Amino acid sequence: MSTNPTAEAQTTATLGVTPKDAAAVILLRAGTDSANPEVFWVRRSERMAFLGGFHAFPGGQLDALDAETPVENCEDPEAGAMIACAARELFEEINVLIARGAEVLTKGQRASLLDDLESERMTFPQLLRHYGLHLDATDFTFVGRWVTPPFSPRRFDTWFFLAHCPAKQEPHVTGDAELDAGEWTKAEEAIARWQRSEVITVPPVLHALKTLAEGLTENLTERFLSVSQAHGVPVRRIEFRPGFICFPVRTPTKPPATHTNCYLVGSQEIVIIDPASPDEEEQQALASCVDDLLGEGRKIREIILTHLHPDHIGGVNALVQHLGGRVSVAAHQLTAEALDGSIRVDRFIEDEEIIELEGEPRLSLRAMHTPGHARGHLCFYEEATGALITGDNIVGLGSVLIDPPEGNMRDYMRSLERLRTLPHLTVLFGAHGPAIGNPRVKIDEYIAHRTEREAKILAAVREGADTPAEIVARVYTDVHPKAHAMAERAVLAHLEKLEADNLVALRDDGCYIANDTNPSAS
Ligand SMILES: [Zn+2]
Repeated sequence: MSTNPTAEAQTTATLGVTPKDAAAVILLRAGTDSANPEVFWVRRSERMAFLGGFHAFPGGQLDALDAETPVENCEDPEAGAMIACAARELFEEINVLIARGAEVLTKGQRASLLDDLESERMTFPQLLRHYGLHLDATDFTFVGRWVTPPFSPRRFDTWFFLAHCPAKQEPHVTGDAELDAGEWTKAEEAIARWQRSEVITVPPVLHALKTLAEGLTENLTERFLSVSQAHGVPVRRIEFRPGFICFPVRTPTKPPATHTNCYLVGSQEIVIIDPASPDEEEQQALASCVDDLLGEGRKIREIILTHLHPDHIGGVNALVQHLGGRVSVAAHQLTAEALDGSIRVDRFIEDEEIIELEGEPRLSLRAMHTPGHARGHLCFYEEATGALITGDNIVGLGSVLIDPPEGNMRDYMRSLERLRTLPHLTVLFGAHGPAIGNPRVKIDEYIAHRTEREAKILAAVREGADTPAEIVARVYTDVHPKAHAMAERAVLAHLEKLEADNLVALRDDGCYIANDTNPSAS
């Protein structure tokens, strides 16, 4: 994203988003082999804006009535509300009802209860009371509380509970649009699928699977709670995919983003993409992550820059210095030229260049020159795993600013089209926000959004709006007036594209006119 943080942006960056309470259930199959347990996981729908396409455990946000749902054997009202939330979400999402008394209900009765709940004929506490059921805290074992990293558009403080699926109940994804599918899996197999880059998931799920894969030993809960992230310390090093570590750092970026994702890519030999933060504390955090990787026996190949913006390059010099100057910096030539004097770029990266990274798995990044947001913008495609590092071209949070003259809408649309044709896209790693597990849906959305805006802008010009300010007033009715200055830059980018496409003309007086407008009518 671009530069010029306002005072307001800095305040947002400092405060971040307050995490909302949520609960998730790690559901185990009763009678499962305790050395190799089976767990139920779900795939979030690709249509979901947040973590669409990700594998997760059933769960969701706390609702006001959860605190009113009685939970037996529970002293702490907060924990009781979270258990009620977990039980309700489990029932709503996969139709498993963990409540004392529910064992006498038939499958048909459970379906009818779910219908009562979904049609809002009854709330969850009413429903439990009506059918003589009650929740019991001993059915839910607390195994950690994980907070979404601050890079996220939505942040959750999620309580995880282990629970056993009651006999005679078979989980299935209910008709709701949030989930695509759900299945029992051996924890070991789930990890193997993650290792093979077939699925994408978040750190608490991966931690749970790894813990379960070690077997259902007596100290299971302790093992779950053995990491600081299970006690609310936000995760910093996020490995959505093996060999792709995302390390968000706080930067002066464009709201709603507050962080830029630095990526450390490679299983043995690694490249560090966008050491972004100008903040010393954040630079130190990244440096210690790099030191950890070196300690694990990895080697640094080079630092790579996706593009020139300050919220992407703020930590380059500090990291080079931290590594004793023994690391080279690579970027597109246009980026290098623009940064001349502030950052020393040792090597130019060209379109279609292949960067082979030794290790197991061996990763092969194909550089793609994708101008539009910035002239020298680079994306990196890893063909075997279908991962695409998208820089600021496609982001998991907020919108992409095309600000002329550095930004160019025609180039941007071409770049998006080019990314869209990649044969085997499975995940996008943008510079802001979480990874994107529904790449095709996301790219199509981006293209559709710009195309729609362009059509509206052209229509406005045809109707006589002839300056960016006037067009913004007519077209960007969904945008807060405070953001109008930025919207005018985007409109200018669209107008330049329309001009290049021969659909509008810039008159000598600085106003725009549609080429198919009858001059006598204006
Ligand atoms: Zn940018």
